[in-house]
Amino acid sequence: MLIKTAQQMLERTHEEAAKMFAASLARRRRKRIDSKAPLPAFVDQDRWIAICTCGAGVACDPAWPAAYCYDCGTAWPITWPDEKVKGDIEAALELRPAVATKSWCVDQAVATLAAENVKLGLVEAPVEKRPIEEPTTPGDGTTLDVTTVELGALGGPVEG
Ligand SMILES: [Zn+2]
Repeated sequence: MLIKTAQQMLERTHEEAAKMFAASLARRRRKRIDSKAPLPAFVDQDRWIAICTCGAGVACDPAWPAAYCYDCGTAWPITWPDEKVKGDIEAALELRPAVATKSWCVDQAVATLAAENVKLGLVEAPVEKRPIEEPTTPGDGTTLDVTTVELGALGGPVEG
């Protein structure tokens, strides 16, 4: 399952969410503020959100024209990473079983997420990025020279 968007978090369509936002403002006798400046979406623990200028987190959905801050009454346009990058972010985070580790900061490179996945032991390091092992000299005591050791010495089955 991909990173949760507002639709999954709020379990509402955009139309329903916009109606609830309007009703919430009406109940509190507050005016809706439509911001022209967008907020950037990021991933916080498996959820696409943005942080309103009032400090509240707002649920974001790429299919929605705005994200709504119920605290201060602002409707925000949201900027998203481009579709390819967004897909790569989600693919990298989907490998992580722990929700607490499913986060991505705005401007964080996808390569950084991939490196974190290697550190978390979720994927193997790409071959070209593995450290090159120093060759050891046969018979220097650090390696077993298999050409001169009989199978019985290794504790394996000895035939005959
Ligand atoms: Zn707000």
